[in-house]
Amino acid sequence: MSSSKLRHHEKTYDVVVVGGGPGGLPAAIAAARGGARTLLVEATAALGGAAASGLGVLGFLDRQGNRALGGFAQEFMDRLAAVGGAIGHFPCPVHNSISPVSPDMVKIVAVQMCREAGVDILFNNSMMDAEVVDGTVQAITVFGKLTTTRIQARTFIDGTGDGDLAFAAGARFESGQEGTGEMQPSTLMFTVTGHDLDKFFTYLDDNPAAMGIKEDYAAGYNVDFLRKHRGHCFIGLTDLVAQAQADGDFTIPRNQFITISTPSDRHLAINTSRLTRIDSSDPIELSDGLERGYLQVLELLQFMRTYVPGFESAELSQIAPALGVRETRHFVGDYRLTFEDVDTKAAEHDAVALSGYNIDIHSGTGDGIELEVVDEAFGIPYGCLVPQGVDGLLLSGRTISVDSRVFASARVMGTCMAIGEAAGTAAALALRHNTSVREVDVPTLQAQLVERGAILPQSALQTA
Ligand SMILES: Cc1cc2nc3c(=O)[nH]c(=O)nc-3n(C[C@H](O)[C@H](O)[C@H](O)COP(=O)(O)OP(=O)(O)OC[C@H]3O[C@@H](n4cnc5c(N)ncnc54)[C@H](O)[C@@H]3O)c2cc1C
Repeated sequence: MSSSKLRHHEKTYDVVVVGGGPGGLPAAIAAARGGARTLLVEATAALGGAAASGLGVLGFLDRQGNRALGGFAQEFMDRLAAVGGAIGHFPCPVHNSISPVSPDMVKIVAVQMCREAGVDILFNNSMMDAEVVDGTVQAITVFGKLTTTRIQARTFIDGTGDGDLAFAAGARFESGQEGTGEMQPSTLMFTVTGHDLDKFFTYLDDNPAAMGIKEDYAAGYNVDFLRKHRGHCFIGLTDLVAQAQADGDFTIPRNQFITISTPSDRHLAINTSRLTRIDSSDPIELSDGLERGYLQVLELLQFMRTYVPGFESAELSQIAPALGVRETRHFVGDYRLTFEDVDTKAAEHDAVALSGYNIDIHSGTGDGIELEVVDEAFGIPYGCLVPQGVDGLLLSGRTISVDSRVFASARVMGTCMAIGEAAGTAAALALRHNTSVREVDVPTLQAQLVERGAILPQSALQTA
């Protein structure tokens, strides 16, 4: 006789979204708003994913300054702003735009919006398994607090970042970048307080070479820009980092220091820890990355206090609830968007989201960042959300089917929100029309998204 104390629950929904980050949260809310009984399963104790770490949201403006995002993404920012958790979109010569958000307000507003839309949330539960019958996902099992819960649904949406649900369902994927399999590094984000930005800017006045992105890539990216734009991302201090490395005080494989504004003047997010040569979809490597990440946070705090003018009294104010993972699995969808397609606009007419950010690849083995301008926002076709060979499942957020260069642009949080809204809206449409998500009529989906304020390319609007 088994002495197991393991409990078991059974549930049934129309739509189940796994992962409550920028890809999963809008998917759940859009599905519920479309009339689907929706469950959002989240492994941690907070919604928001990487948006709950102090990072600013990228993707609202493209290189030309044109709006690339509306719909849920803008609504979420408006809701955050109403409670002091966002302060608007700031243009940026490096990042096109940056929209600072409060990591804790993200967690709260996400719950508020789920409740208003009627989304049920299951926190502290992780994917365990998926049941696939004749190529269609029928049910998943999740685990939390000595309890397994088997959930049947008509449509499942993978918002786990790593694609744990699609992986469990047997969907095809590639790991990391084409050819090398190298994955962009992971980072443990944290925020500090007690710093003196005026003193820091005065140091930059006296040391203009400390601005890490040069004018030929980003005209106007100088200390005056940082002063004038309350929301900004500073990248630089190459010399101070080199000096600390020479002194044995900086062992992180990184040649620059990065700060990001939050909506609070008193809190600054630090995006400088770096875990290279790590596959964060593997639990052992993820755990090891976290261990090293915590130690890097301390090293960075000491670096700031010792080497960086204006940060002598910096104190730790928050460590992100999870390791920030840039890249792991890329799934293969009915359509795989390549950068050549972006150039030729081959798939724009099927677009359900716009990507307005540049190519931004953090080296997974070295210490640098590769940046390349993308001139204007490009469309992400619906087929990138539909995993090849598996029915009843949609991909959202950074799991979608794109090549490494497209990924390096489309992975940002604003774009992930637009993708998520498209996935959730498609799931609700499939339910209403009694079709599978693979068969959703793309012009009808595009029309609904536009009605909700989403921004799509002109060629997509002609079919919508
Ligand atoms: C260090 C770093 C810096 C970045 N900088 C920026 C930036 O400045 N601006 C920007 O816009 N973007 C930035 N990005 C990119 C962006 O944050 C991510 O690509 C984006 O958050 C991906 O969204 P997602 O919802 O797919 O994944 P995530 O944000 O990772 O969210 C996934 C969610 O799923 C949950 N989950 C995972 N596995 C399971 C499971 N098995 N079961 C249940 N739940 C699960 C997680 O807990 C999490 O809540 C950065 C990323 C990193 C890592």
